[in-house]
Amino acid sequence: MANGLRDSIRKVETYVPISSALLAMYTTTPDPADVARRRAEREAKEAHEDARHAELLAAGGLAQAVAELHSPDDRRECGGCDFDGYEAERPEWPCRTWTLLDEQADR
Ligand SMILES: [Zn+2]
Repeated sequence: MANGLRDSIRKVETYVPISSALLAMYTTTPDPADVARRRAEREAKEAHEDARHAELLAAGGLAQAVAELHSPDDRRECGGCDFDGYEAERPEWPCRTWTLLDEQADR
């Protein structure tokens, strides 16, 4: 499979010194087992977050209202956080507000 970024880095490396660690990071093919493990860990983390979010959405009152506002969009970014004016992208979800709600709401 062609890797444009890897090829570009190797091309640049011929006339600009690049540290061996940096070069290895971008030119080494990741171990498929590591990729699968990281994917499984991410999916488990997201499933846990989604289950807790469902609990909060069913909690009623203020917890439910805040959880509804600070829900993830389809890119798993928070749809309720305001932009701070400098960031071009929405904050990742779970955002700081949702995390605080998760910590403080009754379980
Ligand atoms: Zn938020």
